[in-house]
Amino acid sequence: MKNFTVIAIDGGAGTGKSTTANLLSNQFNLLHVDTGSHYRAITAAFLDSDVTPADAGKSQNLNKIELNSAISKMKSTITINGLTIPQGILRSDKINSIVSSYASIPSIRSLLFDYQKSQIELARSNQFSGLVMEGRDIGSIILPNADLKLFLTADETIRNERRELDGESDQISVRDHLDTTRKIAPLTRCIDSVLIDTTELTKDEVLSRISQLINNL
Ligand code: C5P
Repeated sequence: MKNFTVIAIDGGAGTGKSTTANLLSNQFNLLHVDTGSHYRAITAAFLDSDVTPADAGKSQNLNKIELNSAISKMKSTITINGLTIPQGILRSDKINSIVSSYASIPSIRSLLFDYQKSQIELARSNQFSGLVMEGRDIGSIILPNADLKLFLTADETIRNERRELDGESDQISVRDHLDTTRKIAPLTRCIDSVLIDTTELTKDEVLSRISQLINNL
């Protein structure tokens, strides 16, 4: 493993990105950055102030948003104007159903581009051995020079089952369709990523495969 290791994980909803990133973070002392939660937090903030997707990209709305990070249990959490939005809100049915609309707005993506890039410095300055960032455009746009790029997939049935086990109602195929067909930063597998189908693997099997890859870096 290198001195400072940067890992990008991309894939659709319910493919195991967060579980995998969490395990890797603990095993290799990596800062865990879940970029889906950034889009969810911005969506929640706009919904709270009645800003629709049609208006969210306007500078007078974006200028009101100040982003910062808080680190807890190896994970970086986004704060908006000093506030952390509770998980119960971020993972609510309402946010699940509308987050992709806000995520397809170019000016929201460019605001998060700078914020997400800054997580590398955050990991360094907090003595992590690297970072693991998960999302949809991490290997392609946010961290194109990552030391390891992973792309997770899984059958739709198992992905739905995982969401139900999490107690969430989430139309993952609708979200995936919106995320793969949008004009800006669509979810797509990078040519230099390692594909892992998690359908029939336990989380420990996924971890063990990826650990081998990291140890060989
Ligand atoms: O990963 P999660 O399912 O929490 O992501 C929520 C939504 O945020 C995705 O469906 C997608 O619309 C958006 N997203 C994105 N780019 C990322 C991460 C998430 O567009 N890097």
